[in-house]
Amino acid sequence: MSVDYADVEDVRVDTRHWIGGRRVSSDTTFTDISPIDEQPIAQVHAGGEAEVDAAVAAAREAFAGWAALPVKQRAEILRAVADGIDARRDELARVETRDNGSLLRSHQRGVMPRVAMNFRYFADLAESIAHPIDEVRGHRQRVSFDPAGVVAIITPWNAPLMLATWRIGPALAAGNTVVLKPPEWAPLTASLLADIAHEAGLPAGVFNVVQGTGAGAGAPLTRHPGISRLSFTGSVPTAGVIAEAAAKNIVPLSFELGGKSPLLIFDDADLDLTVDLAVEQFDNAGQVCLGAFRVLVHESLHDEFLDRVLAKAKSVVQGDPRDPATDVSALVSRPHFERVCGFVERALADGARAVLGGGPNEDLGGLYFRPTILVDARPGSEILTEEVFGPVLTIQTFADEDEGIAMANSTRFGLAATLVTGDPERAERVSALLNAGTVWVNCFFVRDLGAPFGGNGKSGIGREGGPWSFDFYCDVKNTVFSPNGWTTGNGGNS
Ligand code: NAD
Repeated sequence: MSVDYADVEDVRVDTRHWIGGRRVSSDTTFTDISPIDEQPIAQVHAGGEAEVDAAVAAAREAFAGWAALPVKQRAEILRAVADGIDARRDELARVETRDNGSLLRSHQRGVMPRVAMNFRYFADLAESIAHPIDEVRGHRQRVSFDPAGVVAIITPWNAPLMLATWRIGPALAAGNTVVLKPPEWAPLTASLLADIAHEAGLPAGVFNVVQGTGAGAGAPLTRHPGISRLSFTGSVPTAGVIAEAAAKNIVPLSFELGGKSPLLIFDDADLDLTVDLAVEQFDNAGQVCLGAFRVLVHESLHDEFLDRVLAKAKSVVQGDPRDPATDVSALVSRPHFERVCGFVERALADGARAVLGGGPNEDLGGLYFRPTILVDARPGSEILTEEVFGPVLTIQTFADEDEGIAMANSTRFGLAATLVTGDPERAERVSALLNAGTVWVNCFFVRDLGAPFGGNGKSGIGREGGPWSFDFYCDVKNTVFSPNGWTTGNGGNS
């Protein structure tokens, strides 16, 4: 296997870094293993302090020119990047599926189009964003959104290209330059994105990719004095380490972290809808931050709901994610597979019962974990409070609205909550009391790029999406002009 290229699903992927508009090698590599069959698919260059230094230096050098470019020209280049993504959508989908094991059909239909949208949407928004001009006691006041500098972006493996571009799009549109550290468990599409961006005319140094592990490449990036923003998507423990590193340089952070979201089903809910929503949670083998894995169902509905969920869940097809018939694939890596096994083993030992699945899929072997539904978990136990990030649902019952809300809000997370009810007044009342950055009422996973997105509590810090992204990726400046020539002063009020 070459150490500079890998041929993955008939696509040639460069496995080196992309720094300052050229490919850069490291002395060491790490092995990228596909979850589908646990076979090595690439040797990827393992960056460290030196590569991070070079990437930040390149991004800093490119910053002045990119920031000074009229927004219309920046937007045109970003639209060309989006066109390039569309043109290579099928290749990107095939490589991502081989790399992280998520469904090919999802990448083709939904994920890769959204990747392109992440550039197009923020290109459009940057062009249209208003710089309001107000009058303050006769003075003219102008608010502007200035690019902040070099943005460091660190991303996880569960939706690598989608999550990276959801930050790269607004960061570049606002006039910043970027250093991306992709996940070591699924690093390949970031490299293809570098090729696409280069071909689309993005100037050298504006977008840089440093491959490597969290400790090797991620850590030096987070503590680098040359970065101006740090956007991290990943787990809570890593976020703690990163926050400490970033604190030394007082770098503003955006954290999108884990979740343990509830699916709260009232006795007036549409049962067909609730059954569909529950089984939908097995999507991406449950490796979805927003997943509603804690099913809370009103006690009067429980038996019928469970019967129907089990009937539907049994028809879920597990297998190779490249097969269009597959609904649930493998977990991303051996360590993650063992982590998920451990959660379920401990839950069963602690009194929970598996009414579906409950362990690895022996027929498929490898990293395939059966879609699992657990009941009778002990209140307050680990399986009800910690993020598993696998195809594991728990079902609990509640007796009335107050108890349902209390159970929904009973974890340290607050990323999303889904509420199913046929009563519009209850929908208003309960949604207002749920502790979550996003609440879905009688629907799930409806995401708009213009909406604020982020979590409460341990699910994150800050919001991105629409203008909220520019609030984070820009230095917002207020300039006040005297009405009388160039005199200053505001009567003592500052
Ligand atoms: P992770 O925290 O292990 O790794 C995420 C990234 O951080 C990787 O690129 C990794 O290399 C890097 N990293 C690890 N240690 C580092 C360090 N010391 N310094 C700098 N970087 C470091 O998370 P993961 O296992 O890759 O992803 C799963 C987690 O991501 C889950 O908790 C999931 O909920 C969360 N997630 C959240 C969202 C969201 O939008 N809220 C979206 C997707 C995933």
